Amino acid sequence: MIIRLSEIEELFIARGSMEASRFSEVEDKSMRVVTPVDYELTVRKFDNLVTVQGPLECTMSITCSRCLDDFTLNLKAFMDIKLTPRIKTPRLSEAELKSEDLDVYYYEGDEIDLDPFIYEEVLLNVPIRPVCTEDCKGLCPVCGKNKNVEECQCGAATQTLLGEKLKSFLN
Ligand SMILES: [Zn+2]
Ligand SMILES: [Zn+2]
Repeated sequence: MIIRLSEIEELFIARGSMEASRFSEVEDKSMRVVTPVDYELTVRKFDNLVTVQGPLECTMSITCSRCLDDFTLNLKAFMDIKLTPRIKTPRLSEAELKSEDLDVYYYEGDEIDLDPFIYEEVLLNVPIRPVCTEDCKGLCPVCGKNKNVEECQCGAATQTLLGEKLKSFLN
């Protein structure tokens, strides 16, 4: 969504949704955004400073870091960023979108495209080690079976083996 600062009195509620297909270029194949990203962002103007705050939400399919099964994650995030005008205006590249100050960005002219910020906010909030359930048992390191689905005997076998070694050591 593109907002025009000259049209904002004091604040503006940017409400909308961003297509999931916008995320099709994401390199991390362990996650996929499956619903549009719904957002309701409050844009406020204080002289030149612009703040954008508000919740966003989408559903993604993501791979569990323990059992490697895909599961559905309802991602909720809260955007809270500031934008200040860029004085000198070299071409804005993606890398330059962000200033050194965390959460302070630049804008140029009268328009701000909120989509890149929404995009980034979603990616920032993807869990680094997602788990399908808190008590996911993961994969057996020995036989590779998904222990949520099937209990294997590897754990028991290893213990027995250890017991045998200990016994022979003690003898
Ligand atoms: Zn899992
Ligand atoms: Zn096993």
